[in-house]
Amino acid sequence: MPLASDAASLFINGEWTEASDGGQRAVVNPFDASVIAQVPEATTDDVDRAIRAARAAFDEGSWAQAPAARRAAVLTATAEALQEQREELARLETLDTGKTLEEGRIDVDDATSVFRYYAALVATEAGRAVDVGRPDVVSRVVHEPVGVCGLITPWNYPLLQISWKVAPALGAGNTVVAKPSEVTPLTTVRLFRILQEKLADAGAPDGTANLVLGGGAVGAVLAEHPLVDLVSFTGGGVSGRSVMRAAAETVKKVALELGGKNPNIVFADADFDAAVDFALSAAFVHSGQVCSAGSRLLLHRSLHERFVAELARRAELIRVGDGLDKDSETGPLVTAEHRAKVEAHIAGALAEGAILRAGGGRPLEPELQDGFFLRPTVLDGCHAGMTIIREEVFGPVLTVELFDEEDEVVALANDTPYGLAGAVWTQDAGRGERVAARLRLGTVWINDYHPYVPQAEWGGFKQSGTGRELGPSGLHEYQEAKHIWRTVSPAPQRWFAG
Ligand code: NAD
Repeated sequence: MPLASDAASLFINGEWTEASDGGQRAVVNPFDASVIAQVPEATTDDVDRAIRAARAAFDEGSWAQAPAARRAAVLTATAEALQEQREELARLETLDTGKTLEEGRIDVDDATSVFRYYAALVATEAGRAVDVGRPDVVSRVVHEPVGVCGLITPWNYPLLQISWKVAPALGAGNTVVAKPSEVTPLTTVRLFRILQEKLADAGAPDGTANLVLGGGAVGAVLAEHPLVDLVSFTGGGVSGRSVMRAAAETVKKVALELGGKNPNIVFADADFDAAVDFALSAAFVHSGQVCSAGSRLLLHRSLHERFVAELARRAELIRVGDGLDKDSETGPLVTAEHRAKVEAHIAGALAEGAILRAGGGRPLEPELQDGFFLRPTVLDGCHAGMTIIREEVFGPVLTVELFDEEDEVVALANDTPYGLAGAVWTQDAGRGERVAARLRLGTVWINDYHPYVPQAEWGGFKQSGTGRELGPSGLHEYQEAKHIWRTVSPAPQRWFAG
C-alpha cells in the first residue's frame, strides 16, 4: 500500500512538491518486493531550482550569520523530534531497507546522538586567537560556513548517513540540497519534514534545507553545478570517482565516504568465544550491507578448523526473515539486482577454489521466496589472489584466509586499495596496539567490532575516501577557516622609502 503522504516529497524553497514533469519512482520493500511508496523523480530543472534556492538562502545571510545558539537549538529540537517519532521512523527504515526493527531503532538513536553532539559542538565553537608577537595586533582564526552543500547518501543506513551530513552542515550555517538513495528515500523525507518545522521556528529563510529525490543523474547535477560549493558523498567507488571528477570542474570541496574490504584479524591468543561471536556480527549484521563489515577474516592457522567449524555452525543458525518479525536476526538484501551481484561473487569465488562452509544460497522457507534473501555464507580456503578478497561484496559473505606471523597478517590486511575499518583480536595488549598502529585504516577496533560514537572521526584511508565525518573534523568539513588580522593603531611602515 503506497504511503500517500510521500507523493509530493521534493522539498524546494520551503515547499513540498512533485517532480516538474510528474515523473515518479516506486519504492520497494525488499522483504516481499511490494511497492510501499511512489515518490517523485526530480528533473534537472528541479535540482537546479533547489540549488538556486539554497544559494539565495545562503547569500541572504541570516542563517549563516545566525547566532550559534540558534543553529544549535534547531539541531537539538530535531534530535527531540527524532526520538518522538522513533517507532515510526524505525518501522519505515525496516520497510525500506529490510533491516530488523531493532536495527532501525538503533539507527534512530544514533542519528539522534549525532544531532545532539553537533548541537553541543556548534554552541561552543569560538575559533581561536593567534599570538603573532605584536601587542598592537589582534589575530584570530574563525570558522565560517562553506556555502551551498550537496549531500548524497547510500541505501544501507539512510537516516543515519544523512544525519552525519545534515547536522554538521546546517549547524555550521550552510544551506543544503540533500539527495538520498533512490532505493531507500523514505526516512530522509521524514527527516526533512522535521527540519522544515524546526528551521521555520528558528526563522531560517526558505531554501535553507532542500531535498531532491532520484537516481545517480540527480546526484550528478549536484556534483557538477557551479552554484554548489561542497559535495559530501557516501556510496560506492565508481560513483564517488565520478563525483570527484565532476566537482573538479568548479573546484568544489569534496568529501567522500566510500567502500571497504575490512580485515578482522584473529590471533591464536584471542578470546575464542568472543572472537567467533563478533566475527559473525562483523560480517552478517544487516546481511553484510555495511561499509565497515568485517568481511575478511584473517585467522591464525592454529585456530583454523576449530574456529571455522564453530563459525559455520553458528552462521547456519542465523534466522533470516522479515525485519518486522521480532524473531528475525537479519533481513534480506536491498534489491534483486544487488542479490544477483552477491550471488555472482560467491559463484566466482567457488570457481576460484574457495570452499563453502555455510550458506551459499537462498533460504528455502516459502514465506521468504518473494524477498531478496540470501543465507549467511562462509567461504574457507581463500587467499589474496582471489577476486573476492580484492572487491567489496556488500553482502552476507565472510571469507577466511590463514596466517602464521604478525608481520605477514599486517601486510595481508593492508594489501588492498581500501582502508576503512577493521579489527584485531588478541589478549596481548602490546600486540593489539602494535598491529592497530600499522593498519592503514580509518577505524581499528581491538577486541571489538562495529562500535562508533559521534565524538570520534569516521572515514577511510586510501580509496575508502577522503575527509572525515563525525567528531570535530566532521564539522570542519563544512567550514572554511578564515584568519582575521587587525592592526589596532596603524602607522606607516616605510617599506618603500619614497
Ligand atoms: P552508490 O554509489 O550506487 O550510490 C550512492 C548514492 O550516490 C546514491 O544516492 C546514488 O543515487 C548516487 N549516485 C550514483 N551515481 C552518482 C553519480 N554519478 N553522481 C552523483 N551521485 C551518484 O552506492 P550504494 O549502492 O547506494 O551504497 C553502497 C556503497 O556505499 C558501498 O560501496 C558502501 O561501502 C558505501 N558506503 C560507505 C560508507 C562509509 O561510511 N564509508 C557508508 C555506507 C555505505
